[in-house]
Amino acid sequence: MRNILAEYYRTPFNPRVLYPSGGFQNEAGFFRFGPDIVCYGECAKGIANEVMNSEALHVSEAFSATGAELRLPFDIGDVIENLRRERYLEKLDSGPKPLTRRTWTREFYYLVRRFLPVAVRRHLQRVYLKDWKTLQFPHWPVDSTVDSLNEAFLRLAMIAQGCDRVPFIWFWPDGAFSALILTHDVETAAGRDFCSSLMNIDLSHGFRSSFQVIPEERYEVPNSYVDEIKTRGFEFNIHDLNHDGRLFEGKAKFLCSARRINEYAKKYNARGFRSGAMYHNLDWYDAFFVGRILEIPLTTSQDYSVFHILNEYTINLWKRQISLVHQKNGLLSFITHPDYLINLRCRDVYETLLDHLRQVVERDAIWATLPGEVDRWWRARNEMRLVQDGDRWRIEGPDSQRARVAYASLDGDRIVYTIEKPLLTP
Ligand SMILES: [Zn+2]
Repeated sequence: MRNILAEYYRTPFNPRVLYPSGGFQNEAGFFRFGPDIVCYGECAKGIANEVMNSEALHVSEAFSATGAELRLPFDIGDVIENLRRERYLEKLDSGPKPLTRRTWTREFYYLVRRFLPVAVRRHLQRVYLKDWKTLQFPHWPVDSTVDSLNEAFLRLAMIAQGCDRVPFIWFWPDGAFSALILTHDVETAAGRDFCSSLMNIDLSHGFRSSFQVIPEERYEVPNSYVDEIKTRGFEFNIHDLNHDGRLFEGKAKFLCSARRINEYAKKYNARGFRSGAMYHNLDWYDAFFVGRILEIPLTTSQDYSVFHILNEYTINLWKRQISLVHQKNGLLSFITHPDYLINLRCRDVYETLLDHLRQVVERDAIWATLPGEVDRWWRARNEMRLVQDGDRWRIEGPDSQRARVAYASLDGDRIVYTIEKPLLTP
């Protein structure tokens, strides 16, 4: 059985969890746990086929403890995995659902997209996003189900074991409260030619960012371009193969494309990869690169959606997302495109965003970094362990001098975190 708390918190606190002896005996569906967290998975107490009807299936009461053993009617690890692999989509796509949530609608849309005038395209995308906003699950504009599940589970386990403080390895290096990355996907030759100016803009606000570049068909990728990105301290990554929206169409074709992507990654000494239009299939991802893949989530809306679908030329939505992610000590990650930022109106909004980010980074002790550094940190943190040292805790492992001991404590109906040596702000 996976040790969920150790994976998330890197804590030695390891409660023994028992599941129903006969398994869960039903298919996956929706139910609720903790402070009204919507879960998707199998559950011995029953499931609902619709998110809406899951309110009646609150299973926190089914949680019980005898001595050191905890009993749960569902497997938290499976629920987290289902969310990461977006398995709940099967259920959201079945039944009498709005047109825009059906898989075939999406497939048809991507098939005909290139023949549609831009205005029609934007109208369809707006309808799709409107639908998305009224969806109960996952949460708009930020979903923090995985974090809430871990907190709720830790809290119940601490109460059950009479433990009021649990040590863990803090989420970010040097005691930073949360983290930030800025990324740019380069879609066209015009966008490629604007990258130099965009680097100037980012630097003038004190930020460096990553560029995801399409290696085939769209535009030339001259060495001087790659060199400029790298020598100025920005990060170079691969974006899809040719961005035709068909990378994950079939496994054989995917494996062939993955081989070429790997070759480009080697040729350009790229740090990472992002597929076109955020498509993915985690079950196939081990075909990329070597070893395990770290998937860095996108936690804010892309510039394209904000400007061209929501028709919003302010940073209000981004501010809301920043504060929600920051409250959960998460990673703030942004995708903006040089292709759209050529436009003065869009560029103005982007610069307002950078101004705002500069303020919150300094005020709230946020680690502003590059995706490759986030990758390095999470791999190192994954290898670290907490060791008891008298009545204190010490962290051992690679890069452990950057890590901080933190504590989770019970505070009424929630969990609060304290960092032993938090990053100091002016
Ligand atoms: Zn793209």
